[in-house]
Amino acid sequence: MLRYPMFIEGQAHDPAGGEWFPSDDPYRGKPWAEIAKGDARDVDVAVEAAYRALTSGPWPELTASGRGAVLRRLGDAVAENARRLAEIEVRDNGKLINEMYVQLSYVPQWFYYYGGLADKIEGSVVPLDKKGYFTFTQKEPVGVVGIITPWNSPILLLAWKLAPALAAGCTVVIKPSEFTSASTIELVRILHEAGLPEGVVNVVTGFGNDVGASLVDHPLVRKISFTGADTTGRHIGAAAARGLKRVSLELGGKSPNVVFADADLDAAVNGAVSGIFAATGQTCIAGSRLLVEESVHDEVVRRVVALAATARMGDPMDEATQVGPITTLAQYDKVLEYIAIAQREGARLALGGNAATRPGWFVEPTIFTGVHNSMRIAQEEVFGPVLAVIPFVGEDDAVTIANDVRFGLGAGVWTSDIGRAFRMAQRIHSGTVWVNTYRAVSYLAPFGGVKDSGIGRENGIAAIDEYLETKCVWINTGALSGNPFVLR
Ligand code: NAD
Repeated sequence: MLRYPMFIEGQAHDPAGGEWFPSDDPYRGKPWAEIAKGDARDVDVAVEAAYRALTSGPWPELTASGRGAVLRRLGDAVAENARRLAEIEVRDNGKLINEMYVQLSYVPQWFYYYGGLADKIEGSVVPLDKKGYFTFTQKEPVGVVGIITPWNSPILLLAWKLAPALAAGCTVVIKPSEFTSASTIELVRILHEAGLPEGVVNVVTGFGNDVGASLVDHPLVRKISFTGADTTGRHIGAAAARGLKRVSLELGGKSPNVVFADADLDAAVNGAVSGIFAATGQTCIAGSRLLVEESVHDEVVRRVVALAATARMGDPMDEATQVGPITTLAQYDKVLEYIAIAQREGARLALGGNAATRPGWFVEPTIFTGVHNSMRIAQEEVFGPVLAVIPFVGEDDAVTIANDVRFGLGAGVWTSDIGRAFRMAQRIHSGTVWVNTYRAVSYLAPFGGVKDSGIGRENGIAAIDEYLETKCVWINTGALSGNPFVLR
């Protein structure tokens, strides 16, 4: 079986405790690789390496333009190794090979874009109210950043954090999900082959309550950038607050996909199906609540069910497959549990509802109608291929239902009325609203949540501020003197 050691200070690193744990292939439902089980001792080694690389050696010596050039080389390296990285991700996560080819052809853009931004980070002269000073601000890297990622899109979500952190001049320690560590280790190895200096990016693998918690608590870590479940995010936010560390949290969602009667229903039905069943529903922005205007409810349901029923489940390495397995056994059990809960709550099963009979962890695309927004299936994140259809009457009702959840990550609005599109975009409480489309993301477009979906934004120009501090420098230009005991 393949073994993936950690990666610290430019080299493979075996776990201090000497233990390894299995990583499963969700299509076959059995282990395919072994991952190093790190602990607090390995976190110490990695953070100290990151701190050394931050404060000495080639990284802080680079000009901002030099950092940009490094980032562009990293982007090229990802592009050159896309196929290998894609295959590891499919094996480890069960993501579709087609999705991974598309994703990995796009990931280099994060390195190119933030590489371009690296030498456009500017301070400013402070227009002061006092004479005798020249005062200016400069931007500095926040320091060592702890990056903690989930299992559902390991490489993409890492790139969203890593590229701006490096452009800002930070060094990082990554803690990937214990379920999908292999692609992160491989990616970081590839980045070093492309010329990333030692210690700038380090990976410690292992479990959240051990490696993750030690990383958050480590005194040399100044910022935590986390993507994962809201329960974990709360925990990390509280721990980071105790250490007075900066934190960004990209958390879960229960996103409404709202279809008005005046919408192009072909497009809306497509958007509803891809909104929930792409990536087997395992995305934070899954359009897991389909809100349909009552007058077209039955027709939309009929068409969504008919389209979803055509989904081909199977081997994620097969380019014809449309719905892959659930990534982890625990998640598979959770999805089936939510299907049972929805049935107990009185929702009507319109499609699916079963575990598919394969060795791997497959759940059929599942659609519930007759859902009331107060049901657990409408309020809690399932993170699987389960759609809850909820009828509404008119715009106000749609807004009330859309906003009646504790999350606020994404939302879709399907309408041919531009005024309504604009009104809905203003009234829905979420970090992103898509109109007549769904799931579009870009390195240029800010992404993040409101309410329980998180704190902070990734992507776009502003994301780099998450990794910068502002220093203010006062220069006495006038040989000032005076009473030393009076504050000037
Ligand atoms: P998770 O919260 O269980 O785990 C995420 C990471 O946190 C893992 O690396 C885990 O080991 C680590 N972790 C767990 N406990 C920790 C602790 N006490 N201290 C430090 N680290 C700890 O999430 P998951 O199951 O891997 O991912 C699914 C969740 O991620 C869903 O809720 C999904 O909505 C969310 N998600 C959000 C976004 C977004 O951008 N908003 C994107 C993808 C996924």
